[in-house]
Amino acid sequence: MANKKRIGVHVGTGGGVWTAVDRAVAAGANTFQIFSASPRMWKASPVKAADAAKMAELRAKHDVGPVAIHASYLINLCSQTESVRDNSTKAFRGEVERALALGAEYLVLHPGSWKGLTREQGLKLAAESIEKAIEGIDFAGKNFRILIENTAGAEFSLGGKLEQVAELVDCLKACAPVAVCLDTCHVHVAGYDIVSPDGYIETMKLIESTVGFDVVKVWHCNDAKAPMGSKLDRHEHIGEGTIGAAAFCRLLKEPKFAHCAFIAETPVDAPGDEARNVGVLRTLAAG
Ligand SMILES: [Zn+2]
Ligand SMILES: [Zn+2]
Repeated sequence: MANKKRIGVHVGTGGGVWTAVDRAVAAGANTFQIFSASPRMWKASPVKAADAAKMAELRAKHDVGPVAIHASYLINLCSQTESVRDNSTKAFRGEVERALALGAEYLVLHPGSWKGLTREQGLKLAAESIEKAIEGIDFAGKNFRILIENTAGAEFSLGGKLEQVAELVDCLKACAPVAVCLDTCHVHVAGYDIVSPDGYIETMKLIESTVGFDVVKVWHCNDAKAPMGSKLDRHEHIGEGTIGAAAFCRLLKEPKFAHCAFIAETPVDAPGDEARNVGVLRTLAAG
């Protein structure tokens, strides 16, 4: 079913990157997210052509997509320290190259931390670093986007406010294939209300007037352990946190986001948790 709603989960790649497709399918997902290298190490090996081919074959067989890759947590493209920025820029180029080699549609990026600088300087550096990282890469004919993710709004973290995500997209859209990933937990703990019906309407208006609906390609679906506005990024199982099932039900059925992939990054506390969260999202989307 080509236009079946895309609901999935972040899965592991142990045993080969292509095994992610099997894990996603086993979890009942028809879209998924992975890391293309260890998210806590600078070193990464290039994608093997045979692995990419196997992934493409399995995706086609099971109708799985889009595929999102989450960039390494070490990358900070707006660091005040030049050496960190350089390493981050090189590492991000590697992320883009691996994403393209794997045929992934999306590469999700946290904009970074501007500690020691001003927010404006941070924004400028993030945009410059991304532009530098993708220099010379030909995106023509590729169904690929770098997705700027909103963050939980911790001090110095760029992208806690929707306006900052929009600004970065605006800075980059002339030179890079950019779009947006919004995370329900980050939206909520950053202080935007998606829980009360009135708050939801207000937050939707704000999304429309900042990033816009069409540019949002992925919703990371995570319930939250911490209260709204707490700036604490702790993901919870869908329906068991401070966001709650009703808010996910509303979001999953939002016509403005019918084009989006909904991907959980929920905790894995017990075997089968990926499938359980995908199942809950699927039920809420249908309910
Ligand atoms: Zn996320
Ligand atoms: Zn998070």
